[in-house]
Amino acid sequence: MKLWTKILIGLFAGALFGLWLPSLAPYTKPIGDGFIQLINMLIVPLIFSSLLVGVTSIDDTKKMERVGLKTLLLYLGSTAFAITIGLLVSASLQPGVGVDLGTASTGLNAPAQSWADTLVSLIPRNPVAAMANGHILQIIIFAILLGIALNLTGSKAKPVIAFFDGLAEGMYKLTGMVMALAPYGVFCLIGYVASQYGLAVLLPLGKVVLGVYLGCVIHAVVILGGALFVFGRFNPIRFFKGIVDAIAVAYSTASSSGTLPVSIRCVRKNLGVSNSISSFVLPMGATINMAGTAIYQGVCAIFIAQAYGIELTLGHYATLVLTSTFASIGSAGVPGAGLIMLTLVLNSVGLPLEGIAIIAGIDRILDMARTTVNVVGDCAVTVLVAQGENELN
Ligand code: ASP
Repeated sequence: MKLWTKILIGLFAGALFGLWLPSLAPYTKPIGDGFIQLINMLIVPLIFSSLLVGVTSIDDTKKMERVGLKTLLLYLGSTAFAITIGLLVSASLQPGVGVDLGTASTGLNAPAQSWADTLVSLIPRNPVAAMANGHILQIIIFAILLGIALNLTGSKAKPVIAFFDGLAEGMYKLTGMVMALAPYGVFCLIGYVASQYGLAVLLPLGKVVLGVYLGCVIHAVVILGGALFVFGRFNPIRFFKGIVDAIAVAYSTASSSGTLPVSIRCVRKNLGVSNSISSFVLPMGATINMAGTAIYQGVCAIFIAQAYGIELTLGHYATLVLTSTFASIGSAGVPGAGLIMLTLVLNSVGLPLEGIAIIAGIDRILDMARTTVNVVGDCAVTVLVAQGENELN
């Protein structure tokens, strides 16, 4: 049996197990947590070594700039579509109408960081600390700069490049070994989630769940699948089949950073994306491309406004689009990050932060869907960039 078939079976069997035997499922949680730890263990050495080797294999700086720009524009474009979809879906579903949360105070302040500070914080003062803390954007910046420097150094740097090349290959092998455990890890993770959320918890917020899931499916299938088909001349069905492992791991772990080793493996092995493109575009996506999170923030903001009976003006909607874009980019690829950034979005239009407590109760279920779309978006943009650069095998 193929690995992805086993993972899908793990996913469905785990959900059934959690729903049928909710008292037993929590006992399997440590196995699921262990699986997440194993994947997390891969992230830093894998990204650093493979990106470094990827950069040293591009000796044309123009190409590097072009790839960087394309990646950024595609991620931003995808996020813009995502927010629009989130708002349109909520406009038609009206998730908060009929839910009465009374009146609430507004105006609590979320901690804010200026854009200049954010940009400066991208530079790793200490690359080892950046690695120890798993600060992916800082690791990316250091790997790119060091890669360029090693290229310029010439023959003396060759052994260093060969060393990291070997390390990267070893890390891919290790990823494959960890992935062999994925069906069991996914089974336990989903089993636990299903045992914690019965229908009774989900029903009152049914339209929020429906809105987020619907928005996510539309974005993944219509926008991303459509872009692959039209601009990438790539069969969307082949695409989704190729990234099934990443989809299942993203859905069950709710972490796009944690899924990174799996998505890198999928686009390389199954879709034929080159090493240099995948090791650059995917880690960047796992930190800044959060289209699913943007959809979620749009739906939740409108839900909270409606549930508190607050009218939103056109200006409010414009502000929502803008802040959701930045809030989604600013969300880390870890479970629950989007919920924290939701404070920023609500604050920007003066919506009551108390609403977050209600969303928090079911956030994991929403997180699983938005993380999956975040990861699908990362992989789709990677394929598009690779296609444009003739780096698709
Ligand atoms: N969990 C999401 C991710 O890792 C981020 C979020 O909470 O929206 O992609």
